[in-house]
Amino acid sequence: MIRRFSKYYKPHLKLFSLDFGCALIMSVLDLIFPALVAIVIDKAIPQRDLSLLYTIAIVIMGLYIIRTILNYIVTYWGHVLGVRIESDMRSDLFNHIQKLSFNYFDNTKTGHIMSRLVNDLFDIAEFAHHGPEDIFITSITLVGTFIIMLTINWQLALIIFLLVPVMLVFTIFKNKKMRKVFREMRIKLADINAQIEDSISGIRVVKSFGNEWYEEEKFDLGNNSHRVTKEESYKVMGEFYSGIGFFSNLLHLIVVFFGGLFVINNQISIGVLVQFLLYISIFLEPIKRIANFIETYQKAGAGFNRFIETLDVNPDIIDRHDARSVGKLSGDIEFKNVNFNYSDNETVLENINLKIDAGETIAFVGPSGAGKTTICSLIPRFYEVTGGSILLDNEDIRDITMRSLRDNIGIVQQDVFLFSGTISENIKYGKTIATQEEIINAAKLANAHEFIIKLPNGYDTHTGERGVKLSGGQKQRISIARIFLKNPPILILDEATSALDNENEKIIQKSFERLSKSRTSLIIAHRLATIQNADRIVVLTDEGIKEQGTHIELMELGGMYKSLYDAQKLT
Ligand code: ADP
Ligand code: MG
Repeated sequence: MIRRFSKYYKPHLKLFSLDFGCALIMSVLDLIFPALVAIVIDKAIPQRDLSLLYTIAIVIMGLYIIRTILNYIVTYWGHVLGVRIESDMRSDLFNHIQKLSFNYFDNTKTGHIMSRLVNDLFDIAEFAHHGPEDIFITSITLVGTFIIMLTINWQLALIIFLLVPVMLVFTIFKNKKMRKVFREMRIKLADINAQIEDSISGIRVVKSFGNEWYEEEKFDLGNNSHRVTKEESYKVMGEFYSGIGFFSNLLHLIVVFFGGLFVINNQISIGVLVQFLLYISIFLEPIKRIANFIETYQKAGAGFNRFIETLDVNPDIIDRHDARSVGKLSGDIEFKNVNFNYSDNETVLENINLKIDAGETIAFVGPSGAGKTTICSLIPRFYEVTGGSILLDNEDIRDITMRSLRDNIGIVQQDVFLFSGTISENIKYGKTIATQEEIINAAKLANAHEFIIKLPNGYDTHTGERGVKLSGGQKQRISIARIFLKNPPILILDEATSALDNENEKIIQKSFERLSKSRTSLIIAHRLATIQNADRIVVLTDEGIKEQGTHIELMELGGMYKSLYDAQKLT
């Protein structure tokens, strides 16, 4: 893990050395200051030596100036280092997640991915910057003060350092407790957030059931539990800070008492006593730092583990090393003994054999859950067949690069996803280098132009959160325009009109007819009336392909299709 972590320092080695070096010098400078004060008290003052006082004042001033510059460098460039490492890691993670297969997204919550990209990486960056600094500077300050104090007066140094182990144990112990409470608090806060999100996105359901009181009660429960944990955390924090305060006072008392005793017995000078007092303040700092360090270390460690975990998820479906990039296919599709299941203990598709000719329009009908969507997701390799093969233009899709395979396929689904951006940008998603003219042309073919020009900013109207709300039918037409722009030889329409009302369905049906002309089209339809003109209709059930033929043939057959059709006609 340390190796994989240090890999991220490599490109920033110069910055790291700069930050680290400056921090090191800073901690050494801090050790010099008390010694200079001692000289003032023991030499300059008793001897009334003004020039010595001036010299020391100038030296201290010089040190302060240097320290200020170093401090600026450490604060600014040190954080820059952290931010750069954070951004490198974030882009590694994002690029990796983009490559992962559908399977991963089926099984991972968006919220978890988000918290990895945002929170975890922030914690890691904090550590990346402060971690190494903290370890070394803390050690230098602790060891440095110890050695200096020992050489000045070992008796007093030993008395002071007897307290150190006690303080460390107290600090670490209290910190452990604090971390535990903080972790609990974070979990409870995440719960509350999830609940808020849930009841806001589901507010229509909440209100339609008149269940506001129920939501309130649920929320109060979570909210109270969070409050209690938070109160607990402040209790532990109180114990910690008052404890540390007590120890610090105790140290000062020890120095004043024993130091005073030693001064009275002429064992040490007043300057040394003051020097000790100053060193104590310096060395309390690293002890607090150690506590802090343990916390950032643990948080970053946990975050980095999750980061690595995600980076180590391999995409299930990747290009073969010798995969070929193909140009525009003509659109023959063949399923050969295809088996498929999403997980080991079920079979979704078994021994599917189906040949679809280029340019043919084929419709899939059948009960929900029969595997219609699944069959269609296998063609662009969203999922990999578990047995058999799928051929496009007589070539196994596994021999083709995924990029060029997917360039040949256009998919329209029931739920249309519009990215935040303008209408133009959204249509352009079908061909990122399209000209405005091509975009408008595609919109016209999709019957979208009319409504788009009536929007407040036409093609430049923003969609989504910051912009206009579009109806389901309008969104669908934008998604169709995308496909016109992409112009693939193979088209998949998966219940694309199922959520629309009759009027919208009719308009969109027209664009579909235009779209499927001269393309191989696979249409999954809920309303059978919409697919009567298909070249072939395939009835899919849990047992596989049950019937196939034209509408007239299947009606004459008088099987499952006919009964489905008759049932729909009645409604
Ligand atoms: P249809 O489109 O015919 O309604 P699907 O192809 O969506 O059917 O689903 C076929 C079967 O596969 C169903 O039993 C469904 O529960 C299951 N299934 C669909 N998608 C997934 C998935 N992403 N992970 C696991 N099982 C799935
Ligand atoms: Mg489906």
